[in-house]
Amino acid sequence: MARYTDSVCRLCRREGCKLFLKGDKCYGPKCAIALRPTPPGEHGQARQRKQSEYGLQLREKQKAKRAYGVLESQFHRYFEEAERMQGITGENLLVLLERRLDNVVYRLGFGASRAQARQLVLHGHIRVNDKKVNVPSFMVKPGDVVSVCEKSAAADKFKAMREGTGKVIPKWMTIDAPNLKATIDAMPKREDIDLTIQESLIVELYSR
Ligand code: SF4
Repeated sequence: MARYTDSVCRLCRREGCKLFLKGDKCYGPKCAIALRPTPPGEHGQARQRKQSEYGLQLREKQKAKRAYGVLESQFHRYFEEAERMQGITGENLLVLLERRLDNVVYRLGFGASRAQARQLVLHGHIRVNDKKVNVPSFMVKPGDVVSVCEKSAAADKFKAMREGTGKVIPKWMTIDAPNLKATIDAMPKREDIDLTIQESLIVELYSR
């Protein structure tokens, strides 16, 4: 499957905001958005002109897609599912993205970024209800227990996590850090999602 392999900081600069794609670096002084907040490329500065309505809608879609590391076709499928659900389509879309297993592993602090969390899932380090799940797009639901498999839990990278990463865990899940497991207590709500995305613009884009 095609994956973006260039510098991910360029994506943040393109969207003009932090997408938190690089783990700890995103919180430090070396963050590219803090150092060079202009769009990437030779004419990046010049590209900072007023955007059309379509341009604004497109940027919001790209922002969401890039933050969650989802490809175009998959993102569109999430949108179609969000449309079929009851409630507000834009919020449904973000909730679906938030329920992805790779996002949950990232939110729990088991992976420093969503990309790292995806690798942990793909490499079989993550269990859901004591069963290995190596599908990053797996959707968690209330009552599910997400854990690091016993064999992997002994690895150095997880040792520090047992003492707690200090990361703020979303209130729709409860973590048991010493045992590297968490319970999904409820469906995420829009207010639990800290990304600055105007989801209504994404809905407008797909409704054109
Ligand atoms: Fe984005 Fe993180 Fe790079 Fe900053 S360090 S530009 S937040 S990926």
